[in-house]
Amino acid sequence: MTLLFPSLDVDHEAPAVQVGDVVLSRTELLEAAATVAGRVAGARTVAVHAEASMATVVSIVGCLLAGVPVVPVPPDSGPRERGHLLRDSRAELLLGSPGWEDLAIPAVPVDPTVRTALPSADNTATATSAGVGEPVGVTAGPPALILYTSGTTGAPKGVMVPAAAIAADLDALAEAWAWTPEDTLVHGLPLFHVHGLVLGVLGALRVGSRLVHTVRPTPTAYAAAGGSLYFGVPTVWSRVCDDPVSARALASARLLVSGSAPLPAPILHRLATLTGLPPIERYGMTETLITTSSRVDGERRAGWVGPPLKDIRTRLVDDETGAPLPSDGQSIGELQVQGPTLYGGYLGSPEVTADTFTADGWFRTGDAAVIAPDGHHRIVGRRSTDLIKSGGYRVGAGEVEAAILAHPQVREAAVVGLPDDDLGQRITAFVVAPDLIGGGRNTGSAAGDLTDFVARELSVHKRPREIHFVAELPRNPMGKVRKSALAPPVTR
Ligand code: ATP
Ligand code: MG
Repeated sequence: MTLLFPSLDVDHEAPAVQVGDVVLSRTELLEAAATVAGRVAGARTVAVHAEASMATVVSIVGCLLAGVPVVPVPPDSGPRERGHLLRDSRAELLLGSPGWEDLAIPAVPVDPTVRTALPSADNTATATSAGVGEPVGVTAGPPALILYTSGTTGAPKGVMVPAAAIAADLDALAEAWAWTPEDTLVHGLPLFHVHGLVLGVLGALRVGSRLVHTVRPTPTAYAAAGGSLYFGVPTVWSRVCDDPVSARALASARLLVSGSAPLPAPILHRLATLTGLPPIERYGMTETLITTSSRVDGERRAGWVGPPLKDIRTRLVDDETGAPLPSDGQSIGELQVQGPTLYGGYLGSPEVTADTFTADGWFRTGDAAVIAPDGHHRIVGRRSTDLIKSGGYRVGAGEVEAAILAHPQVREAAVVGLPDDDLGQRITAFVVAPDLIGGGRNTGSAAGDLTDFVARELSVHKRPREIHFVAELPRNPMGKVRKSALAPPVTR
C-alpha cells in the first residue's frame, strides 16, 4: 500500500490526524494500523463499522496496508441496508460493531483490534476485477475499497475502487487545488463515501497534510478548527451561510471545496461575501472518483464544476442518437468519461458493469451536462430524473432550479417532471421558502410571486407549471435530493 501512502517529507511525530478529541501522529497512526493489518491479513474482504471515529480511520488504513478489500458500512444503516452490504460484499470480518445484534454476532466495542467473524454469505461475488469479467474500460487490479453508492436513484451499488484509481485521483486533485503538506484539512463528513473517506482521509494522508475531522460538519465545529482547506456538501455550506459568525471565522482559510451535489449559486455568492473565498466546486461519482473541478488558479464559475482533472477525458453524447455533441456551452447530453480514476466494476454484477460502458470504452455517467468552449462543465442533473421532456422540449431541471433559487426568499428548490397527458412531462417545482409563504400570506399569492419572478428568468417552455411549497426536501445523508420520492423515475 506504499502506492497510496508514499513516504513523505513531513514530521512523523507531529499531530497528523485528529478525529473529535483523539489525535495521532503519523507514526502512531501507522503503528496502530499495522496492528490491524496483522490481524486482517489473508481475509477476503473486511467490513468496518464506519462511524466518525479514529477507530474507523485506523481500521480502514490497516486493511489498506494489508491489501485486504475493505467495505465501510454506514453506522446508522438499518438492519436491511447493513444486511445487504455485508451479504453483497461477502465480508468475512467486521471491525467494530456495537449493537449490531441483528447479525447474530456478539456486540463488541468499537475497537479496531476487535475482529468478529461474520456468518458466511451464499452468493458468489468475488472482490477482484477478474470476478466481473473486466468489461471494456474498467481499471484492472483488485479493489482497495468497496464503496457503496449513495443510493440516490436505487439500492446502493458496491463499487470496486482500485488503489491506482485513488492514487491518480488524489494526485490530480492535489495539483488542481495546490494541496500541500502545509495545509490543514478540516471536514466532518461521513467516512463511508468517496467525499469524506477517499478525499477527506486518504487525501490528507497521501498529501501529508494535517487532518481535523470534526465528527459532525457543523458551522461552529468548522469555525473552531482553524484549517486552511475545508470540505463540505452543499447543505453544510448552506448552514455555514446561516451562521455568519462561524462563516467569518473561515476567512483565514485558503480554500473551501463543495461537492457531492449541486451547489446553488446563491450559496456560492453568500459564502464568497462572508469569507472572501468563492468555493471551489468539483464533480464526480463513486464509479469514476472526482473527474472535474474548478482550479485554485482558475475561474470559480457559479453553477459550474470546472474543467476535467489531469488525465481525464470527457465527451458529451446525444441522449437518443448517441452522436457526439459540441462543447458550445448549450448542448445538453450525457457526460461520458475516460481516465485512470475509473472503477473496477460493480461487485458481482458484470452485466450491469458492462452496461455502464459504451462500445468504444467510455463510461456513461448517467448525468446530463453542458460543456463550455473553454472546457468548463455544468451538471444539469441526472438523465433519469433531471432531463425533463415537456411539450417536445428538453429542459434541464438544474436550470429551472437555478432560476427559482435566484429569488431572495427561496431557500431550496427541486424540480421534477411529473407525468402529463398533454405535455409528456409537466415541470413541477418543490420549494422551501418559509419567508415567502410566512406572514399570513396564502401560498397562492406566494406561488404567483415566484411565477412572476421566474418568468423574468426563463422562457415559457422552461417555466414550472406547478409550484408546491414544502417544509423540507427529501435528502439522503450526503445532502442529495431524493427526486424519486418526488417523481416516479423515467425509464429511457
Ligand atoms: P446511486 O448511484 O446509488 O443512485 P449516487 O449516484 O447519488 O447514488 P454517488 O456516487 O455518491 O451516488 O454520487 C454521484 C452523483 O452525485 C453524480 O452522478 C452526480 O449526479 C452527483 N454529483 C456529485 N457531485 C456533483 C456536483 N458538484 N454537482 C452536481 N451533481 C453532483
Ligand atoms: Mg450513481
